[in-house]
Amino acid sequence: KAHLDRIAAVDGDVHAFLHVSQNALETAAQVDADRAAGQILPDLAGVPIAIKDVLCTLDMPSTSGSKILEGWVPPYDATVVARLRAARLVPLGKTNMDEFAMGSSTEFSAYGPTRNPWDLDRIPGGSGGGSAAAVAAFEAPIALGSDTGGSIRQPGAVTGTVGVKPTYGGVSRYGAIALASSLDQVGPVSRSVLDAALVHDVIGGHDPRDATSIPDAWPSMAEAARRGMTSDALKGIRVGVVKELEGEGFQAGVKQRYHETLDLLAAAGAEIVEVSAPHFEYAVAAYYLILPAEASSNLAKFDSVRFGMRAGVTGTVEDVMAATREAGFGPEVKRRIILGTYALSAGYYDAYYGSAQKVRTLIQQDFAAAFEKADILVSPSAPTTAFRFGEKLEDPLAMYLNDVTTIPANLAGVPGMGLPMGLAPEDGLPTGLQLMAPARHDARLYEAGAAIE
Ligand code: GLN
Repeated sequence: KAHLDRIAAVDGDVHAFLHVSQNALETAAQVDADRAAGQILPDLAGVPIAIKDVLCTLDMPSTSGSKILEGWVPPYDATVVARLRAARLVPLGKTNMDEFAMGSSTEFSAYGPTRNPWDLDRIPGGSGGGSAAAVAAFEAPIALGSDTGGSIRQPGAVTGTVGVKPTYGGVSRYGAIALASSLDQVGPVSRSVLDAALVHDVIGGHDPRDATSIPDAWPSMAEAARRGMTSDALKGIRVGVVKELEGEGFQAGVKQRYHETLDLLAAAGAEIVEVSAPHFEYAVAAYYLILPAEASSNLAKFDSVRFGMRAGVTGTVEDVMAATREAGFGPEVKRRIILGTYALSAGYYDAYYGSAQKVRTLIQQDFAAAFEKADILVSPSAPTTAFRFGEKLEDPLAMYLNDVTTIPANLAGVPGMGLPMGLAPEDGLPTGLQLMAPARHDARLYEAGAAIE
C-alpha cells in the first residue's frame, strides 16, 4: 500500500511505470493470510517488485516500450516472473524503457521518457531507466531489469542504485523479449547489494526453457553478500583497474570519486593492480554491429500477424506488414534494423558481423589475461553523471559512447555489478562504480560489492 501510494504521489513526475498492477494489494493480502494461517513462506514473500516491460507477464501488458506491442498481454509469464511469484513477491507494475531496450536514456520509449528522481530535467539512464528510477524514487524497493550493453548498470550509475548483470546463462531469458540474444541478461536493481543478491537467488539458476541457461548449481549470492558485510572481504583481494576504462570522455567528478574509491579499497587492504585490456577500445564498434544484426533478426517476428498492432491498410501481406512496421517502430529501432540488415546482407556478412565476432574473441582474451592478475576488475559504471534531456538525442554516436564501460562485460559474457560511488562534486549527481568478475563468479561480485558498500 505504501508503495502504491508513493507511485500515486510521484509517478506523475517521474513516469517510471507504464502499467501499475491492479491486483498487487490482493496478492499481498494473500501472503498475509497465508502467514497468519501459519504457513512458512519464502524470505521475500510479500516484498513488492517492479518489472521491466521487456519481461512477459500474464496479468499485465508487455510492450517492451514499443507502440507495436501496445496493449499486448502475453499468454505466459517469463521464467523470472514465474519464479518471483512462486517466491511470493508482489509484482507492482511494469517499468518504462527505451523501445526494445535500445538506448541509454529512456528517451526512445514510445510512451515518453522517465525522469531522473535526482533532477527531473535529466535522464534516468537506459534502457532500464524506469526500473532504476522506480527504485531510486522509493516507488519500489527492488526491480528487475535487462542488460544487453549496460541497461541495468548505466541507469544504476546515474540514479544511485545497485544493478547486476549476471553471467551470461546465469538467469533465464525465457519470456524476455529478445534484443540481442548473444548479449541479453536479466538481473536485479536495488538500493543495496544484499537486496540484489536476494533477488538474484530467486530468479537465477538453470531453466530448461532457455537453451543458453547454464545447467550447473550456483552458490547463494545472499550468503556471499552477507560474508562481504561481516568479514574482511577486501583484505588481500586483487582489484584490477582497467586502464582503458577511464580518461578521455570521462567527467572530472566521476574520475575523482573513482580514484577516492580506489584509495579506500587500498586502505581496506585490497591490492590495487593496473591491468590493460587493449581491445576494449573496439568494444563499442563491435557491439554496434553485433547488436543491430541480432536485433534485426529478433524483431522480424513483429510482422503484424502474430503480435500487437496492425496498421489499418489494405493490400498485400507485404503492404500491411510494411505499413505496420513503419507506424509501429520508432526511429532508433528503425536505425538499428537497417544497420543490422545491412551488416548481415550477402557480401557484407564476413566484413561486418564476422569481424565484430573476431573482436569479441579478442575482448574475451583481454578479460582472461586481466583475470590472471586480478580477482575483480573495476571501472566507473558510466563515464558521466545523468545528462539533460535532448542532449544526445540527435547524435547517436554520443549516445552509444555512454556505454563504453559496460559493453565489454556483455561481449565476454562475464558478470558486472554497478554500485553507488558518491555524488560528483560539480553537479551533485550520483556516480557509479562497476565491478566485473570471471564468468560464473557472480558471488565474488556480491561479496566484494557488499564489503565496498
Ligand atoms: N545503451 C545500450 C544500447 O542502446 C544498452 C542497451 C541494453 O543494455 N539493453 O544498446
